[in-house]
Amino acid sequence: MRFDLHSHTKYSACGYSKPEQLLNAAKKAGLSGIAVTDHDTMKGALRVKKLNKDKDFEVITGIEVSSTVGHILCYNVSERIKSRDFHEIVDEARSQGGFVSISHPFRQYAFFKMLKVPLGDIAGKVDAIEGLNGRTFFWQNKKARMFAEKNGTPVTAGSDGHFPFEIGKVYIEAKNNLWKEIKKRKVKLHGTTLPGMIGEVMSAYPKYICLKCLRKIT
Ligand SMILES: [Zn+2]
Ligand SMILES: [Zn+2]
Repeated sequence: MRFDLHSHTKYSACGYSKPEQLLNAAKKAGLSGIAVTDHDTMKGALRVKKLNKDKDFEVITGIEVSSTVGHILCYNVSERIKSRDFHEIVDEARSQGGFVSISHPFRQYAFFKMLKVPLGDIAGKVDAIEGLNGRTFFWQNKKARMFAEKNGTPVTAGSDGHFPFEIGKVYIEAKNNLWKEIKKRKVKLHGTTLPGMIGEVMSAYPKYICLKCLRKIT
């Protein structure tokens, strides 16, 4: 089973994929399922779930919350997480039966670190950390996996795709039960960050860019 556990639709301010485009891209990539994790909204996840009529394909409803310490991924939630405080976010997600992972914990732009606290201070409070993120430089991903290895922290993975062509380029592989296997550290992380790097640059372009033309060049 292959899942891309981090994706965005047009309901994220920086996202370009319509819900149907994201669903098609995920199925075309040969995934067993996708987690839709828009920034601070459940709209995209709920739309994609509703659109999916394939019983063999799973849509995991999620959200990437912009917390005061950095981005936090909450999975298997159905209602928007309202708080911005890290501890309250974890509580809110768990009260909905959710699973919590810290997005791209070592992503850094120049001197600007996205995670505002040492990872060690909060990693024990969540279910997992993102060990492979499609829009994060490989050495920053490696740092996350080294932390996970050293501390026995479970890891998740996802493309962080904001365009359809990024979807499924990073994925997590499980045998039977994704969430149990993540917790037991029995999953494998796969993929390349190159499409994500292209996507990251393209995100700087305005939204009127034509997706049909983009598909031809990517
Ligand atoms: Zn993020
Ligand atoms: Zn993201």
